[in-house]
Amino acid sequence: MLLFMPTIVFSEEDCVRNHANELALMGTKAMIVTGKHSSRANGSLNDVEEALKSQNVSYVIFDDIEENPSVETVVKARDMGIKEKVDFIIGIGGGSPLDASKAIALLIANPDKDETVLYENIPLGYIPLACVPTTCGTGSEVTPYSILTLHKQRTKRSISHKIYPQVALIDGKYLKTADRSCIVNTAVDALAHLIESYLNTNSNELNRIYSREGLMMWGQLKDKLIEDKITKADYTKLMHVSMVAGMAITHTGTSLSHGLSYMITYEMGVPHGKAVGMYLGGYVSIYKDSKEACEVLSLLGFESQEAFSDYLDKILGDTEVSKEILEKNAESILSNESKLKNYPFSITKEEILSMKK
Ligand code: NAP
Ligand code: ZN
Repeated sequence: MLLFMPTIVFSEEDCVRNHANELALMGTKAMIVTGKHSSRANGSLNDVEEALKSQNVSYVIFDDIEENPSVETVVKARDMGIKEKVDFIIGIGGGSPLDASKAIALLIANPDKDETVLYENIPLGYIPLACVPTTCGTGSEVTPYSILTLHKQRTKRSISHKIYPQVALIDGKYLKTADRSCIVNTAVDALAHLIESYLNTNSNELNRIYSREGLMMWGQLKDKLIEDKITKADYTKLMHVSMVAGMAITHTGTSLSHGLSYMITYEMGVPHGKAVGMYLGGYVSIYKDSKEACEVLSLLGFESQEAFSDYLDKILGDTEVSKEILEKNAESILSNESKLKNYPFSITKEEILSMKK
């Protein structure tokens, strides 16, 4: 059993400004990597800029990261970073900018290599990275994963390298601009991380300290989420659940629901958390160790598998998926060894198809 969680986490109101010195310790010129709008609206970009100015650290901004970021966008940011001679990165936003930041940090540290190295199993370094999350789902501020869109393959895939952020600065106040669907979809993503980590080939009593804690906290928020009664006071809790869920999958990886979500997102544009959530009730119900599946439901406070699936249907709403996509997706996951190996039992195409009602 092994725990390895190297990211320094600061989690408190105003932590970006309070820990400006941590950013200054990371390098001499930063590249801020963010999306097109939200970090301006929720104040996170301004906080980071003020923090850098207070420490006399210069910076440039790349604010063109799209949802489900592509390798092409990462390359554009890499070119800017090399031209501007930046020596560290600050990712701000949801999982998309944070994941992109990791791949950019790797490519900037290896200017003699092109983007094909992202998917090669060779040891490579990366420049330091700090992350400021503004959604409550991916936990990317603490995970080593970076999931990019591969247009040529018409899907998304995790890059081959593990890139740990050096610092995570977590402040729930940035959720104030997130609408209900953003909060719900990303909270369901965190739930999927907790469940797929607990019910996973790589889970053990040591790394379940993360998933247990997260499942209990998610259970305490579930009624507020479905009744749309999330208040400012809950933002910190949502961010905390997302972070521990990230720590959980850092140790185990994700499993079938995540593997099945990528084609749904690529082909239909369904947001990540919603696409994963479509398969989550099914994942618990087909899981062959029913004792462990019951432990998950009990930590969350659901009386039965049916009650859990009904809850997910209600909170996410229905999404019609064509038979053709469902079939193609099931066939493709059966050849996705990296996701199959995290599911500890054998599985058939029929069982996979039964996961999505
Ligand atoms: P996202 O794709 O980063 O952002 C979704 C949308 O929410 C964007 O339009 C964004 O706007 C907006 N947004 C972000 N923060 C906001 C805020 N505080 N208020 C209002 N709007 C806000 O969403 P995400 O679900 O967090 O990330 C999904 C990505 O993360 C996927 O690519 C997924 O594969 C990946 N992921 C990574 C891991 C990991 O371990 N690394 C785990 C799970 C998922 P802007 O574009 O203007 O910023
Ligand atoms: Zn996820």
